[in-house]
Amino acid sequence: MKVYLNGQFVDSAEATVSVFDHGLLYGDGIFEGIRLYKGCVFKLDEHLDRLEKSAKAILLRMPWSREQLAEAVCESCRVNNLEDGYIRLVVTRGVGSLGLSHLSCKDPQLIIIADKITLYPEEHYTQGLKIITSPTRRINPAALAPMVKSLNYLNNILAKADANQAGCLEAIMLNDQGYVAECTGDNIFIRHKDKWFTPPTAAGALKGITRGAVLEIMEKLGYSCEEMNLTRYDIWTADEMFLTGTAAEVIPVVEVDSRTIGEGIPGKQTHQLLEAFHDLVSKDGVMIR
Ligand code: PMP
Repeated sequence: MKVYLNGQFVDSAEATVSVFDHGLLYGDGIFEGIRLYKGCVFKLDEHLDRLEKSAKAILLRMPWSREQLAEAVCESCRVNNLEDGYIRLVVTRGVGSLGLSHLSCKDPQLIIIADKITLYPEEHYTQGLKIITSPTRRINPAALAPMVKSLNYLNNILAKADANQAGCLEAIMLNDQGYVAECTGDNIFIRHKDKWFTPPTAAGALKGITRGAVLEIMEKLGYSCEEMNLTRYDIWTADEMFLTGTAAEVIPVVEVDSRTIGEGIPGKQTHQLLEAFHDLVSKDGVMIR
């Protein structure tokens, strides 16, 4: 596999960064996870827009235009002969002194890893996930805006560890007020009767690209969905639930904190939304060739 590193493609074994890079020393950087479906990059412009906004929020001046970034992403897929895959785009602050100051870092580093995707086992989609609420709270938006997709994922990693220790793959993270924010790497949707709900990004959720795509699909299918602060009680008593994310796509949830969601099997509307999502990704996207 060839990795894009600051304008060049290098063998993955040689794709290394300095130990003085502030991305490594302090988690000072940003990233995106993007999907390639049948030779088309899904929602590339939205991902690059979010990347640019993350950069702006952390005072990181990216010397690359949107077009250059898009071309580097497409070229990474072509060089690796990919038709379907997962693209990880990382921008680090670059090499600097041992101090915290970002001003010592002159050149941000651009890394693009385009690889085959390891899909979640099929049974998670047919049977649905059992998840827990993590005791680890989502970082306070006043400390670090959750909309920034930064390299600072320790908070989510600890919550994922809570999930793994409980024998689960995902965990719900609450915000400091006790409202549902999101899962460690996915956004959350629940249905009560004929209405869907998802936490607002102000509750501490990333503005997920898949979340946005599902909201669009819901509108087209005539489902109503409201962004609302949700409690654990709202989750436990939901009729249907699913998570959204670039890697997971749309994945049903059937149990939360030992409470069965709905009938304990993936819901009908979730199936319909999952199908509509698959349909969308096969039509929508930037062709790499
Ligand atoms: N929340 C978090 C914390 C994430 O890391 C992700 C994955 N990027 C998501 C939500 C889902 O976002 P997207 O649909 O853009 O992948």
